[in-house]
Amino acid sequence: MSPSAADKDTAKSAGHSSNDVEGEKNEWKFREPYKVHENDPDFKALYEGSCHCGRIQYQLSREKPLDAKFCHCSTCQILHGAPFQWAAIFHKSDINFTHGHNDLGWYESSEKTTKHKLPCKVSCAYCRSPIMDEGRRMVLLFPSLIKFKSVEEKKNFDPTCHMFYSKRLVNIPDGLPKWSEMQNKSDLIEDSPPEAIKKRKREVEEEEENSDSKDNKSEKKKKDS
Ligand SMILES: [Zn+2]
Ligand SMILES: [Zn+2]
Repeated sequence: MSPSAADKDTAKSAGHSSNDVEGEKNEWKFREPYKVHENDPDFKALYEGSCHCGRIQYQLSREKPLDAKFCHCSTCQILHGAPFQWAAIFHKSDINFTHGHNDLGWYESSEKTTKHKLPCKVSCAYCRSPIMDEGRRMVLLFPSLIKFKSVEEKKNFDPTCHMFYSKRLVNIPDGLPKWSEMQNKSDLIEDSPPEAIKKRKREVEEEEENSDSKDNKSEKKKKDS
């Protein structure tokens, strides 16, 4: 790969015309999650993380992620080179890249483009460590990069459920809720807690009832008109 071709894969140029790469117009750098909170007294760094080569370094200001989960979908398996993905959800304002945010690479899996198109996977453009998935409103950070100082700290990142468990390569009989596919939009399978399975069954029944009554209403409307 020529240097210019390699450069195309990085945040320096991906999705931006070359003349605004270093200029003020390079506005993605000033937007969360890429905005640098250098002299911000309100940003309390509670955790630090870095990629394998150390070019990318970041801090986190939230003690406990909004949620954390394991995803067993085949896209995660391939893109992580692992049986499943461990992701923790944070607001975009919770992260501060202190080093190397110019060395980030982007990948959007549905169009298979390296342009900065949300939602996308963010990795180190040098060592290729996956850093996070950037969604439209949140980031799903990969906690394996965080240097936890204690077991208690790591506990904050314990997963609350498994997603796409029907695609699993390994069994994890940990008693956590296991969604066959998307969370809250599929069935709970295997050793999911029985109460959670019952609750989900009720929700599905209610959804079906609601859609039935909607269908009846629209039928009636058709008749009336
Ligand atoms: Zn790296
Ligand atoms: Zn996945």
